[in-house]
Formats: sequence, structure tokens, C-alpha cells
Amino acid sequence: MRKVKRLPQPASLRDHSDRWTKELLNEINRLKSYAKVDDQFKNHYRQEDVRDTLEKMYTRHCCYCESVVGTSSYGRIEHLKPKSLPQFYQYAFAWDNLHWCCEICNTSYKKAKWNFQYPILDPSRDEIDQFMCLNLATGEYEEIGDNRRAQTTIEHTGLNRESLVKARRRIAIRFLKDYKAHQNCGDGRAFCREWDLLKEDMDYPSLYEKLIERCLQLTANNL
Ligand SMILES: [Zn+2]
Repeated sequence: MRKVKRLPQPASLRDHSDRWTKELLNEINRLKSYAKVDDQFKNHYRQEDVRDTLEKMYTRHCCYCESVVGTSSYGRIEHLKPKSLPQFYQYAFAWDNLHWCCEICNTSYKKAKWNFQYPILDPSRDEIDQFMCLNLATGEYEEIGDNRRAQTTIEHTGLNRESLVKARRRIAIRFLKDYKAHQNCGDGRAFCREWDLLKEDMDYPSLYEKLIERCLQLTANNL
């Protein structure tokens, strides 16, 4: 999970979100239930420009696990503050609440979970690296200094699920091995430069970023 810069609000939301929100709240109020409200009132956020902007903002990666979305799974528009919780009905079409997510993180992990005391980190707002770090040796995310919001984030998104931890560890072992081979031939820096260009096309780009950083440190220490 990594920090991204939020792009400007897409035109569909800018022009219509106030009206859509008002209509949705009226319907919930009229029916005294969110579940009974027809999907046509709930799904206005599913606009092409919203999807396109979120995809661009997250360079096609899932906002939580950072896998590339769209190759073997559909991307989902994620509401960080769950749209089905009464406290957050008004954020159903709020640009600041929308993110880009893989199906697994969206439907099997995050779902409508929310911790009001220690809310999940927001990748478009919070400096993720100040709350938790990725252990390159284990492949696991660890909270920095017993940080409760980082704990919530790891729990709610399944960021340390076995499949992700194994994949990250596999990549790290392979990467460091390849780096050493290149470093022995004197082209460790070229290896890092090449991966720096490739990382945004890979699953887990922040893992690559940290691996490159580590290798550049090793290179500097060897000089
Ligand atoms: Zn994901």
C-alpha cells in the first residue's frame, strides 16, 4: 500500500454529485432503509470518467494490495468509508472517498468494515510510510510503533494474507539475488535504473521501490 496523489474530480461527479446525494438520502429516508433503495439511486458513481481517473490515479494498481487490476480480475470502485453505513451515506458520490481496488480486496476483505476509533489509512491522504513499513525479509507489513490505524489497515484489507506475503517474499528474494549477480559484474546501478523504469508495470510497485532503494544503498556502501 502506498500514497498516491489525488487527481482533480471527474466532471460527472463535479456536475451531479450534489443532486445524486440528495436523491439518495431522500430515498433512504422515504423507505427508512438503505437496503430497500433501488440500485439506480446508489450506483451513480459508476461513471466512465470516474473509473478512468481512478485507474490513472492508481496507475492501474489496487489501492490496498497494489496488484495490477484488470489483467485477471475486474477493477472495482472502492468506497473507503463504506457507502452502506448510515454515517457515510452522504459520501457515496464524494470524490475524496473513491479509490481503485481489485475484486479480492474489495469483496473478500475490506467490504463494509470500518473502525471509528482507529480508521483505515487513506492512500490518497495519509503518508502510508509513516504508519507502517514493508519487511523485505518476511514480505509482511508491520505497523510502526504499535500504530493502531496501521493495524486496522492490515486487518481490514488482508494486507498480510498468505498469498500476498508469499508473492512479495518471492519477488524480494529473486530481486536481491539478481541484483547481486549484476553487482558482481559491476552493473548494479544499471540494474536498479532498469527496474525503476519497469516498476509501475508490475504488481506491488512500492515493493520494487523499496528493493531498488535497498540495492542502491548496498551499492553506495560498496564504493
Ligand atoms: Zn487488492
